[in-house]
Amino acid sequence: MQRSRHVFRKLAVTGQPMRRELWQQQPITERVSLSVRLKPPNTQDFLEDVVKLINGRYKGKSGIIYCFSQKDAEQVTMSLQKLGIRAGTYHANMEPSDKTIVHTRWTENKIQVVVATVAFGMGIDKPDVRFVIHHSMSKSMENYYQESGRAGRDDQRADCILYYGFGDIFRISSMVVMENVGQQKLYEMVKYCLNLSRCRRVLIAQHFDEVWDSAQCNKMCDNCNNEKVYEKVDITDYSRDIMKILEQANQMDEKLTPLKLIDAWMGKGASKLRVADVRPPKFPRNEIERVITNLLLQQYIKEDFSFTAYATISYMKKAPKAALLKNENHTIIVQMRKMKNGADKVKRPEATSPKASHANRENTNQLKRSATLTGRGGNKHSKSESASEVKRSKMSADDSILID
Ligand SMILES: [Zn+2]
Repeated sequence: MQRSRHVFRKLAVTGQPMRRELWQQQPITERVSLSVRLKPPNTQDFLEDVVKLINGRYKGKSGIIYCFSQKDAEQVTMSLQKLGIRAGTYHANMEPSDKTIVHTRWTENKIQVVVATVAFGMGIDKPDVRFVIHHSMSKSMENYYQESGRAGRDDQRADCILYYGFGDIFRISSMVVMENVGQQKLYEMVKYCLNLSRCRRVLIAQHFDEVWDSAQCNKMCDNCNNEKVYEKVDITDYSRDIMKILEQANQMDEKLTPLKLIDAWMGKGASKLRVADVRPPKFPRNEIERVITNLLLQQYIKEDFSFTAYATISYMKKAPKAALLKNENHTIIVQMRKMKNGADKVKRPEATSPKASHANRENTNQLKRSATLTGRGGNKHSKSESASEVKRSKMSADDSILID
C-alpha cells in the first residue's frame, strides 16, 4: 500500500501517468477479474444491468462506477438512488467539502457506490473495493489501469467491468482532440475493448512494454475465460461499400457523423446519403459498428472534427489508406463476434458480385497474396447461408486488420 501511495503522489505532481512505474508499482492483483461488455444501447438497459450486479453479486459490497462526464456521473447517481442504491457522486467541480463528505461516507460504508469521474482517484486507498465498473471506457489505457487498480487492494476477489459503447468513442474523441496524442491514446483503449481473443492482462502488459504469461491469468479475464467467441471475417467488400458512401457524401458536400454513415449503410436515414448499389449488411448493429471501428483504428477512415461554439463534432472521412482498397488483392480481415444462430452469420454483400471478384483474384495468381476463400459456393446466385459465409484459410499480417 505504501508503494501505491508513492505512485499516486508522483502522479499528482507530474499529472502524467508514468507507464513503467505504474505497471511495476501498482499491479492489478491476480484476484481481480477484467472484462469488457457491450454497452446496452439505452441507458435504462445499462442501469438494469448494473443494478442487477449491485444488488446481486455485490450486495453490501463497496464499489466505484467511473463515468466519462460529470453529467453522466450525476445522472447515473440519481438513477441508482431512485432504485434504492446508496450512491454518491464525485467529480472535479464539486465543493471540496462535498467531496470530503462523499469520500468519508463511502470509506465508512455508509455509501455503497461512488459514481465518479476520473477526478476520483488520488489517495483512494479503500482496500475492500469489490467492483470497479466503467460506464464508459477510459480515455487512455493508463487511466483505465489506474482506475481498475483501485479494485481488490486487500488481495481478495474483485471485478473490473468495462462497458464498451461505439458512441462513446466519438464523445471522448471530441473531448481529447486538442490533447497531445489524445486520439492515439483513445484508439489504444478502443483496440483493447475490441479484442476478443487475447488475455486482457497480456494486452495491458504489452501496452506498458512488459511481458505477461497468459497462463498466470488463471481465467481471470473474459477472453481467457470464454470459449472462442469470435471468427475471422473478410470485410473487404463491406469496406468498399463504406468508401462508396463516404465518397458520394463528399461529392455532395455532406458531412457524415458515424451514426449517419451507419444509417446510410443500413439503408436508413436520409435517402440521398444512401448509395444505390450498396446493399445493407445483414448482421447485427454492434457488428456493423465493429466494422466501422476497425476501419477507423486501421486508418482506412478517419475522424474529421468540426468546432462550433457549443460542441465539437466528429465526422467520418476517407483516410489515405482507403486507396489500397482499389487493389483487387487487398483484403481486410477482422474479428467478429460469432453469431449464436447460424442463420444470422455474417455474409458478403451480394451486390458486389463475389463471383467476378473471385475470378479476378484467381487470375492474378502471380501475386503471392492470392485470396483463398473457403466455405463459399461457386454459384453467385446461391441463396444458401453457407455459400455466402466468408472465411479465409490463409492470412497475411500486412493486409489484414485483425486485432489480436
Ligand atoms: Zn486472461
